[in-house]
This record gives sequence, structure tokens and C-alpha cells, in this order.
Amino acid sequence: MPSNIFRPHFPFFSNTQSEPYVYLDSAATSQKLQLVIDITQQYYQERSVNVHRSSHHLAASVTEQFEQSRSTIQQFIGAKSHKEIVWTKGATESINLVASGLANNYFKAGDRIVVSALEHHANIVPWQQIAEALDLKLDVMPVDPHGVLKLQASLDLISDNTALVAIGHVSNALGNINPIEALIAKAKKVGALTFIDGTQAVSHLAVNVQQLDCDFYVFSGHKMFGPTGMGVLYGKYALLEQLPPYQLGGEMIQQVSFAKTTFQPPPLKFEAGTPNIAGVLGLARASEFIQVHRNSMIEHEHNLYQALLATLLAIPKVKLWGDNNNSICVQSFTVQGVNPYDLAVLLDKRNIAVRVGDHCAMPLMSALDIDGTIRVSLAAYNNLEEINIFGHALIECIGLLTEPNTQIVTENNVLKHKQGELAPIAESIKQAKGWDQTYRQLMLAGKNLVRLPQQYKTATTAVQGCESQVWIRCYLDADKLVLEGDSPSKIVRGLLAVVFEALSGKTAKQVLAFNLADYLAELHLAKHLSQSRGNGLSAVVGKINEYCQSHSL
Ligand code: PLP
Repeated sequence: MPSNIFRPHFPFFSNTQSEPYVYLDSAATSQKLQLVIDITQQYYQERSVNVHRSSHHLAASVTEQFEQSRSTIQQFIGAKSHKEIVWTKGATESINLVASGLANNYFKAGDRIVVSALEHHANIVPWQQIAEALDLKLDVMPVDPHGVLKLQASLDLISDNTALVAIGHVSNALGNINPIEALIAKAKKVGALTFIDGTQAVSHLAVNVQQLDCDFYVFSGHKMFGPTGMGVLYGKYALLEQLPPYQLGGEMIQQVSFAKTTFQPPPLKFEAGTPNIAGVLGLARASEFIQVHRNSMIEHEHNLYQALLATLLAIPKVKLWGDNNNSICVQSFTVQGVNPYDLAVLLDKRNIAVRVGDHCAMPLMSALDIDGTIRVSLAAYNNLEEINIFGHALIECIGLLTEPNTQIVTENNVLKHKQGELAPIAESIKQAKGWDQTYRQLMLAGKNLVRLPQQYKTATTAVQGCESQVWIRCYLDADKLVLEGDSPSKIVRGLLAVVFEALSGKTAKQVLAFNLADYLAELHLAKHLSQSRGNGLSAVVGKINEYCQSHSL
């Protein structure tokens, strides 16, 4: 696979050269730089000492490197002082730190918190909980039908009562770059604090927090080629001074006595306990790499994104979400008449990793009136050939999922096979060769499902724990179990048909005595199912067993 100048810095790709693995899920987590791995390994192998505690020379040297990393991140985001950089374990912790601190002493009765409809749950739930606890109003900046923030309506929402505006710099679900400059300016006018979630921005856009003049800016290391469990909270120093400590313990204190304890000034005030030292060193390396290569990365990512857009736009029935003219190299899409989960499963079988679902942005999916999207998220290490491979695979998978197919004949899902023989659907799955045929047969099998009438798709029939929506209804007809079910996913409908074929028509006692695990193992299904699909199937079987247990006496 042809390379680009960034790719050789990421060992992930050299490991998979024999069997190409197209990684298009960098917004979930990016691949890690060799530089990051090296410094992390070096710390653990050669310099594993604590910081800010011991006085021996190795500890002093690592402490200096650790504190120097703060200055590196200061430069990376253009902060005024290294004292404004707080180490956390990720964006989520950074958000919670600020939210819980502000909840303690900042908000007053009648205040309103403004968030956007595009936010990751991490930048919704903490604010929502505070609003509930303090009886404040949470206002939601709206999006248009494509998922683009409605700027004027959002600006209008920021009023004299607004105490805080919290918004992502870039939407993780859609890739849109939000107009945070205008929102920050309006927030300042009304005296509100501004909180920017930069988790999806920092590896794609040059960020300068002083120019933005935001009050807080947060991000995670693992989305910018750095370590997991490592994050940053930037806050204006005067504000950090006013925030109470988040956790209490060693290193964040100045003096402890049973009469009174005093705390360190920021940032140490927020860093109780031994920090993720290797993570800090790794994150600093990652940010240096990005800074050095920033311009060429932006150019390369732009070219990749344009190629991705052209690929997707050329495929009929593909609907693109978000603002394609103002986006990082992330694109969400759906395909008319095709379940996104099914599509992602088939792409995965072709070694193409994309993300499917609500992307931890359920309110956004509700606003767009969809269950989820497929998200392709690129990074500088991707290349045009991968987009080409993805495009061809996507066309093939859509073809497979939309091809007209005939039905396997059974009688109302009732098992009519002789002792020792497999039922027709099961037999067709067992005969299938490889994952491709297995999925084809599963989709055919789904056509045999006795579909659940719409009025029965309720919270009672919904199965919890499945990737896609699934409903099943069980009842006894003259002692014999009747099963009905439905799912928007063709593959899940096929799995339901397999299970229903095996269990329908049995008495509750017979169902409980039936070894479904062995039965499915005989069909070689398990090896073709992702873990989440496997868990979903267990949840379905659990619901049927529950019903049978309560009706087996
Ligand atoms: N904010 C955004 C925009 C994200 O994309 C994510 C992760 O996907 C988070 C916050 C949470 O980040 P983490 O899980 O690293 O704490």
C-alpha cells in the first residue's frame, strides 16, 4: 500500500502490511506515534521514578521533563502560562472537573447553561446534572436538518441570564467545525463563561486559546496520536484559582495538619495523587509532532477529505450529514434503505474499520431523526488508496444488502425437522462457506421472520443490550411457544429467525431444556459474529428464557 510521509511514524501500519487493514476510525481513537511509544517505554524501562516527591537526581530529572511537558502543551494551544495546563485522565475528566467545581461556587439562581445539540454525551451529561441539581435551565443550541449549528438561533439563545456556554470545537459525530469564535464573543458580551471541548479539533486544526479567548478548553491525548488515559484541561489562571480542588490527596496540598489543610495553587491543586507520568511525556511528544507537521497535515487531510467526499457522492442513495464545506476529515453518512449496523458489519468483514451508531451523541441523532450513521474518520496517516478500497467495498456491501433475495421455506417458523436433522434455516447457515455466504444466508433467513406488528414494538418488547434496535414478543398458543420479533437490521432479523426456528413450537419446559449455545455452535455462527452482536443474541435468548421460566410451571 503506498505510503505518505506521516505513515511510517505509526507502527500500527507496519504490523498490518501483510493483511491490509483500513483504519477509518481515528475519531474514536487515533493510532499511536512510534515517538510516543518510545518515550513511554523508555520511562517505564529506564526512568520509572515518581515526580514532585523524591529528591534523588533521577526523580529531579523526570520531574523537570514532566513540567517541561506542560510548557510544550502551553505552546501547542497558545496558552499564556504553563500554569494554566492541568493534567487529567481525558477530556471526560476535564469536563467533570470544571463542571463539579463550577457547581460548587459559581452558579446562582436563575442562571442558564447553554450547550449545543451536537455535543458528545461527555459535554452534555455533567452540565445537565448540574442544571438539575441546582434547578437551572439548560438551553440547547439547535441544528438544521443536516446537523449544522444554526448560528443566529444559537446566538439569540445566549442572554443576560446565561452563565456558561459549553460547545465542542468540532462535532465528533459529524466533523463540523463549529463557529465558536462568534459564540465566545456573544458569551463575553453577556458575561458568561465559555467552555470549549476541543477533543476532535486539536489534531486537525491549529488552536490558540488566547486568540479564541475562551475560558476553558479541554482535550484527550489518545485522539491526537498520544496515550490513552491522558487529557488536558486548559483554564484561564484566575478561573483555575477560583475553582475548588477536584480530588484530595498527596501533591495537591501545601500543608496538612488536623487543624487545617491548605492547597497548592493551580495546576497542582487539581492533580491529587501520582499522575500518569508516562502519559504526560507521551502527550508532549505527540503535540510536538503535530506542531512540526501541522501545515502539511492539514493539506494532506484536506486532499483525503475531498477524495472521500467524491467517493461517497458518486454512490447512489448515500446521504451525507454535517457541513461538508466546513469540516475536519470526518464524514458521517447513511444509505437509504440500508441499516448502518449491517453495513458496518460487512465492511468490518472486509477489514475496513468504521464507526457506526449514535457516536455518543444521542440528542443529535434525535434532532436528525435517525438511529445512527456510519462515520468515516480519517487522519494524516491515511492515504488515497485506502479511500479507494473503502469506496469499492462500500459499493459491494450496499449491493449485498439491497439485492433481491428469495425466501427459505419453513412453515411459520415452526421447527418441522426430524430428530437429528437441522431445521432448514439452520441447515442453510451451516452449509454456508465463509463469512460472506454466512451473512448472505442470514439475510435470507431474516425474510422468514414472523415480523412483529408495529403496535407491539414497545418498551416491554424491546431487548436491551443489542447494538441495533430489537423487539421480541413471546406467548404460548396451546402450550407451544410463539415468537415474533423485529429489528431494522437485516442481519439481526436473520439471527432472530435462526433462534425462533429452533425454539418456536416447543413448550416452555422444552425451551429451557434446549441447549441453544450448542445448537448455534453447530452452525459455526459465533465465529462470524462481533462481540456486540454476540451479546445482543444472548440478550434475546435471555428474554425468551425469562418468559419461559415464568410460564414453565
Ligand atoms: N468530547 C468529544 C467531542 C469526543 O469525541 C470524546 C470522545 O469521543 C469525548 C469528549 C470524550 O473523550 P474521552 O473519552 O477521551 O474522555
